[in-house]
Amino acid sequence: MADRLAGVRLAPYTTLRMGGRARVFVEARSEGELVEIVAEADRNGEPVLILSGGSNLVIGDEGFDGLVVRVASTGVEIAGDGRVTVQAGEDWDALVSRCVNEGLAGVECLSGIPGLVGSTPIQNVGAYGQDVSQTVTGVRVYDRTAGEIRELNADQCGFAYRHSVFKADTGRHVVLAVTYALTSSDLSGPVAYKELAARLGVEIGERVPLAEAREAVLALRRGKGMVLDPEDPDTRSAGSFFTNPVLDAAAAADLELRAPGFPRWGMPDGAVKVPAAWLIENAGFPKGYEKGRVRISTKHTLALTNPTGEASAAELLALAREVRDGVREKFSVTLVNEPVMVGVSLAD
Ligand SMILES: Cc1cc2nc3c(=O)[nH]c(=O)nc-3n(C[C@H](O)[C@H](O)[C@H](O)COP(=O)(O)OP(=O)(O)OC[C@H]3O[C@@H](n4cnc5c(N)ncnc54)[C@H](O)[C@@H]3O)c2cc1C
Repeated sequence: MADRLAGVRLAPYTTLRMGGRARVFVEARSEGELVEIVAEADRNGEPVLILSGGSNLVIGDEGFDGLVVRVASTGVEIAGDGRVTVQAGEDWDALVSRCVNEGLAGVECLSGIPGLVGSTPIQNVGAYGQDVSQTVTGVRVYDRTAGEIRELNADQCGFAYRHSVFKADTGRHVVLAVTYALTSSDLSGPVAYKELAARLGVEIGERVPLAEAREAVLALRRGKGMVLDPEDPDTRSAGSFFTNPVLDAAAAADLELRAPGFPRWGMPDGAVKVPAAWLIENAGFPKGYEKGRVRISTKHTLALTNPTGEASAAELLALAREVRDGVREKFSVTLVNEPVMVGVSLAD
């Protein structure tokens, strides 16, 4: 059984480099260990935090008064029909790179996203016109409420924009493995994102060689500080801090009065999605906006950063609230955080 360590600092395990100590910290190196550790903690009534790549987590300065279980299970199975089943602890971008090299299409636009495979269904990871709901066919979980291992199909995952049943009911499911149905092809899926199409010099809907799609996405992401790089302080973030608000018709009409012609993406149900970055910039928070030791990324308005690695979670939360309040005052739209909060909240 894995070693249990007391009082481990959590900041180094997060991309924001924030968070106090874990009362107890343990690494689960296999699916069996992961289930056993969590099941035992549940029997003992011990609070559990599952930690993967720490790239979508804001952990408070008080740390976590319970058991932090770091997922480190490994294993990738590629079936002849393009189905790929991967253990939760595998690195996501290494998997994408391997799929691209082996001529498997469907996740190439998700290149460069930090974190581990088991986290990808949690917020239905997405970028540049792809998200994992397009390819995930099954998620193997340990259901902590039922105390059993279950295989969920895609419908049971309840995928939506940056959301799923896993995010809705945090703590119920431990993701053990994920199956993606990929397509054997040297060409990408139809390019669905304007900025990516422009970078590739193609029209929306065209296909390009997989490796070209991956390289173009990585280049675009690097330009925004969205690929982890120890040399780039803008990447000390949790990615986008706010989701793009989705407004119903009444809320959209209200925003039209305050901001005529505001940018938007139409949604199938008549709702509109508004770029949070546009709202933030137009509420008076430009790239590089600084508050003590934290700042908005100099490359990407949506990322709140800890450039020196020395700021506290309290400082980050204060900046997040200032931005949220500024946007609410100007546009009457309330921004919601994308990363998972542990021991902290955006509420005052
Ligand atoms: C620079 C940067 C760029 C990013 N770009 C994107 C992007 O383009 N698109 C996007 O969608 N996201 C993006 N993100 C956010 C983040 O990378 C993803 O959400 C990623 O999937 C999180 O993975 P992780 O392994 O780091 O999860 P963690 O941060 O470790 O965990 C996130 C949440 O999932 C839970 N969790 C983790 N593993 C499991 C498991 N096996 N079972 C149950 N619960 C689990 C944790 O308890 C926590 O609640 C970015 C982040 C950074 C820092």
